[in-house]
Amino acid sequence: MPRISVSTPSPSEIAVRGREYSLLVQAQGKGGEIDAEKLSVLISQAGAEGAKAPAGDANLSFDEWSALFARPKTEAEGSGNAIGVFAKDNKNKLTPRAFDRRPVGPKDVRIQIAYASICHSDIHTVKGAWGEAKYPLAAGHEMVGVITEVGSEVKNFKVGDKGGIGCMVNSKCDLTKCEQCAQAKEEQYCPQTIFTYNSVDTDGTVTQGGYSTHIIANSHFVLKWPDNLSMEHGVPLLCAGITVYSPLKHYGMDKPGFKLGVVGLGGLGHCAVLLAKAMGVEVTVLSTSNKKKEEALSKLGADHFLVHTDKEAMKAAMNTLDGIIDTVSQSHDLSTIMSTLKVNGKLALVGVGAADDPMHLPGLVVFKRLTIGGSLIGGIAETQEMLQFAADKGVQCITESIPASYINEAYDRMNKSDVKYRFVINIQGTLVA
Ligand code: NAP
Ligand code: ZN
Repeated sequence: MPRISVSTPSPSEIAVRGREYSLLVQAQGKGGEIDAEKLSVLISQAGAEGAKAPAGDANLSFDEWSALFARPKTEAEGSGNAIGVFAKDNKNKLTPRAFDRRPVGPKDVRIQIAYASICHSDIHTVKGAWGEAKYPLAAGHEMVGVITEVGSEVKNFKVGDKGGIGCMVNSKCDLTKCEQCAQAKEEQYCPQTIFTYNSVDTDGTVTQGGYSTHIIANSHFVLKWPDNLSMEHGVPLLCAGITVYSPLKHYGMDKPGFKLGVVGLGGLGHCAVLLAKAMGVEVTVLSTSNKKKEEALSKLGADHFLVHTDKEAMKAAMNTLDGIIDTVSQSHDLSTIMSTLKVNGKLALVGVGAADDPMHLPGLVVFKRLTIGGSLIGGIAETQEMLQFAADKGVQCITESIPASYINEAYDRMNKSDVKYRFVINIQGTLVA
């Protein structure tokens, strides 16, 4: 194995070449040595045309290192210090556009994004299913990268740390006295929380998400990335993972032997299977077809698989489940699904369709004293706990790597449930500012 090292760049070099610095941090092992395997993956994803890792021992300057990853700037409309993939409106395709991120404030950090993934909420928002969005809008609320700048008051992060961002980036709340933020540590329910995109930030600008080269966020909302968690296969945990982890815990559906149904095997659903299995839960997947059966059982480790449109199979499964987490992205009939719950069963709804669900709740719940609940993502402390849990249990999301130019196609495929199980955008290889 060749021994490769790179001279440490100065803060001013990092400021102008955040992308190359982020790649360096990702390639480095604990002691700063370059991990040959990681380097070859990064060169294949984000390297200059024809670039090759040094064949023998080498001590590279930061300039030489940067040359390994030189790529032309992404063609984009407009001007600014970042490039994002934007929706102009709810009809046209998303396209790259340059825009300005604000400078790092005293409490902020700047993250050079390495990977960002696509949540169905991005599609609902961008396409206006939840109301008119604040266009032009770059979505994305699952992203991970390397911190390249920290504000003067930031204590919990330093330049070179890996950091993740989920659905929240800032707050108008002071975070120290509020019942939701300070006491419950559930910032997601505080009315003053500023969400990662389509929200209005403290400076009056509209927040723009992770389909972009870098982001500035209040460090309170940044997640420390565990050393033993892959960035590429862990990034979907930042929304999909916490959105299912939190209700599993809150509703007591995390106990070994608990019989859990997971409805919808997309991004959230597959995280639910992986995390629940790591908790020792017995998992039944409920899907619209048999297409994902083989993988659900063999790759994801689900115990049982049901097609919820199959009347006979659903009849046989009546009164067998202790709880259900429903992650379906569209309005759908819940009555057959809920018939699988036992007396005192629990239903946690996290999927949010565009229209109201046509279900007759009282009739469905009274005869079995069912508990129905909802849940919105999770707080920062719980997200941190979930990331560590996933890392320690070896949970790896199953992802499909895509360039930024594929986002429109990924949206079309997700609308057809053709996703296994999260699209992850290779930002640093395909968006260059
Ligand atoms: P996704 O990857 O597109 O997966 C959704 C899955 O739902 C599909 O793969 C499909 O699974 C199933 N499905 C789709 N259309 C259906 C229909 N008409 N009837 C029955 N099943 C259908 O979506 P996602 O990113 O996991 O997001 C899922 C939902 O959660 C979205 O509504 C999103 O907005 C919401 N969400 C909520 C929160 C929260 O905090 N509560 C956070 C994130 C996302 P099968 O192929 O297995 O049938
Ligand atoms: Zn999401």
